[in-house]
Amino acid sequence: MPPALVCDIQRFSVHDGPGIRTTVFCKGCPLRCRWCQNPEALRFENELIFSSERCIACGECAKACPIQAIRHDHGPHINWEKCDACFVCTEACPARALEPAAREFSPAALVKELVKDREFYEPEGGVTLSGGEPLARPDFLQELVPLIKHENLHLAVETCGHFNWESLQPVLKQTDLVLFDLKALSEDLHRKLTGQSNLVILENLRRIIAKGIPRHLRMPVIPGLNDSEDELKRIAKFLIELGETEIVLLPYHRLGESKLEKLNSELKPLGIPSMSEKELQAKSEVFIKAGLRVRKP
Ligand code: SF4
Ligand code: SF4
Repeated sequence: MPPALVCDIQRFSVHDGPGIRTTVFCKGCPLRCRWCQNPEALRFENELIFSSERCIACGECAKACPIQAIRHDHGPHINWEKCDACFVCTEACPARALEPAAREFSPAALVKELVKDREFYEPEGGVTLSGGEPLARPDFLQELVPLIKHENLHLAVETCGHFNWESLQPVLKQTDLVLFDLKALSEDLHRKLTGQSNLVILENLRRIIAKGIPRHLRMPVIPGLNDSEDELKRIAKFLIELGETEIVLLPYHRLGESKLEKLNSELKPLGIPSMSEKELQAKSEVFIKAGLRVRKP
């Protein structure tokens, strides 16, 4: 089985499920949310990242590139179309200004990393698989998840909901908590904001609820994009009809934007400020009035 590409393993995370957790950011996602906080995790293939703040303008990368995809002129200029992600330049760079976006892990190697933090997981923490879309690799998860459970670790999975239900049944049965992100209820709006229809996503959400799989339903609130009163009311009504009682609202913040210029990303900065506590509270009122509890992440 091919290894998984992992962008980051973030330790001591407190916003990705209960307790203290180790969060694994898997690479690859079928959606292209315009506000993505982890743009380095969007493509399924590995890619080059250039952190200009680390660069000492030594020119070693341009000398090392076997296909002249880097030109040196007071610093490196990368021809992103030409670069074939061979990563020879990352070996030559003395400042770690050039790096692969992700590293390869086998299921066993990943679990070996996760158990290192075991003592911090007590009493209610554990491991969270995030991304990207962690459920995009059923073959990998079918091997990884039993290993995580064999170690008796609490497992949460953060998902955009766009996954193949049939092939993930064994995985979901062993998942302790699904963190399910709903971006928009209107199909047209969802397609406009993420590049994909939400029909599969809504169907998977219905199935998760019907199966009684423990879940936190979450919504990233993006000012001017998915937070109109009508849209929020529609989402609240939909969740109540499904018998849900609460929602977690995730306020938009700009942290992901600084990563865009390091990549050859198809996303562009939204150019809107991070959301304030007061703005989020105003959006929460729509859900509260509809009868839902609103929780912080
Ligand atoms: S990753 Fe390979 S092709 Fe791309 S710039 Fe570096 S050395 Fe050149
Ligand atoms: S090798 Fe690294 S430090 Fe030197 S110019 Fe290239 S990116 Fe900058």
